Amino acid sequence: MAEKTLNPFEIVQHQIKEACDALKLEPAVFEILKQPMRCLEVNYPVTMDDGSIKVFTGFRSQHNDAVGPTKGGIRFHPGVYVDEVKALSMWMTFKCAVLGLPYGGGKGGVICNPKGLSAREIEEVSRGWIRAVSQIVGPEKDIPAPDVYTNPQIMAWMVDEFSKIREQNSFGLMTGKPLIIGGSAGRGEATARGCVTVALAAAKKMGINVKGARVAVQGFGNAGSVAARLMYDAGAKIIAVNDSRGGAYNPDGFDPNAILAYKEKNGTVKGYPGTKDISSGDLLTLDCDILIPAALENQLTSANAGSVKAKIVAEAANGPTTPEADATLRSKGILVIPDILANAGGVTVSYFEWVQNLANFYWTEEEVNTKLEQMMLRSFDAVWNMHDAQNCSMRQAAYLVAVDRVAQAMRVRGWLK
Ligand code: NAD
Repeated sequence: MAEKTLNPFEIVQHQIKEACDALKLEPAVFEILKQPMRCLEVNYPVTMDDGSIKVFTGFRSQHNDAVGPTKGGIRFHPGVYVDEVKALSMWMTFKCAVLGLPYGGGKGGVICNPKGLSAREIEEVSRGWIRAVSQIVGPEKDIPAPDVYTNPQIMAWMVDEFSKIREQNSFGLMTGKPLIIGGSAGRGEATARGCVTVALAAAKKMGINVKGARVAVQGFGNAGSVAARLMYDAGAKIIAVNDSRGGAYNPDGFDPNAILAYKEKNGTVKGYPGTKDISSGDLLTLDCDILIPAALENQLTSANAGSVKAKIVAEAANGPTTPEADATLRSKGILVIPDILANAGGVTVSYFEWVQNLANFYWTEEEVNTKLEQMMLRSFDAVWNMHDAQNCSMRQAAYLVAVDRVAQAMRVRGWLK
C-alpha cells in the first residue's frame, strides 16, 4: 500500500506532540510549539533583464526564540510554499536544541526558479528579499543561511544590502558567507564532518570496528563526497557511492578521493574503473555496516526498508527516511542516527561563524573542527542516553532532548504559567 503523503507541517506537529506527551509536559508547551511565533509573507518587485517588472513572493518563518535568536536557511525554489517554510523553521528549532545551540528555528524561501534567472536577476531577488524582511531579521534577531539553490554569493549580496539599511557592516546577519567577509573556516565540510563523527560514535557503541567497516553513501555531492572521504580516512572501506546519473560499486572498496577526481572530469561517479554500476535502490539495500543517505528526502520507504542490511543509518540528508520505514528499521535493530543530529554539523559551524563575526576574532580550521567534534559527541551522548533511558528510537530521543530544552527555557522565562 502506498504511504500517505503528509504535509510537512502536520509531520512536525505530530513529532512535537509525541515528545510533549512522552515527557508529560504542561499542555502550554505544545500549544506554543505547534506553530511558528511569526511568519511573514512578502511580495516585492524586481526589474527583469528585459525591462519588465516581476513581483516575487517570499517568506520568513520564525518558530520559537526561547533560547536565542532564530536561525535557518533561505531557499530559492519554484515549489516553496508557506507550510513547508513553517515546518522547516520548526525542525530548525529542534536541530539547534539537540546541539544545545543558543538559537531557535527560522526558515525562509522565495518562490522562483533560479535556473531561469540571470546572475543580475538573482542578485536583485536576493537584495529584494532581505529588504522586505529587514525589520524582523538581524544578528540579534534572526540569522539566515544558505539552503536549496542559495549559496555564499547570495549571502554576500544580502549582507551588503542589509549593511546599507543598518548603515554599518553587519556580517553577523547571515552565515555561510564567503571567507573574505567573515565566513568560517571549515564550514564547507562541517555537515559531513559532524555526520561522520556521530556515525563513528554509534559504531563504537555497537561494537563495530571502523577499520574495514563497509560503508555505502547515497549522493556524492557536498555532504556525501566529504563523508565518504572522512570515513575512508578513519579506516572504513567505501564499497558504493552514487549520484543522480548512476553508481559505483566494488565490494572490495575503493578510494573516494580518486572517484571524486573522476566525477569532476566526467560529471558522474558512474563508470569509474574497477567498479560496476548500481541503482540507487540497490545501493540502499547493500550488505554493509554503515549506510549514509546524503541525497534526497524519502529514500528509505516502506517499500525498501525491510531489505536494508546496514547496521547503522546516518542521515546526512534531511528527511531521507519515511515514518513507516523508520519503524521497520527499528524493528530490525538497525540504529538510525536522525537528520536533526546527524547533519547538524552545518548549523553548528554556522553558529561558530556568527560567534566569530560578533567577536571579530577568527579561528583556524583546526580550532573549528575540534570544537565541532566536541559538540557533536556531547549531543550524540545526550541523545544516546535518552534513547537508553526511554527505550525509544534515536529519532524520538533527539526530539525528547530538544523539546525538553526548549520547554525548560520557556518555563524559566515564565511563558508556561
Ligand atoms: P548536493 O547537491 O551537493 O549533493 C546531492 C547529491 O545527490 C548529488 O551528487 C546528486 O547527484 C545526488 N543525487 C540526486 N538525486 C539522486 C538520486 N536519486 N540518487 C542518488 N543520488 C542522487 O547537496 P548537499 O549539500 O550534499 O545536500 C545533500 C543532502 O544533505 C540534502 O538532503 C541536504 O538538505 C542535506 N544537508 C546538507 C547540508 C550541507 O551543509 N550541505 C546541511 C544539512 C543537510
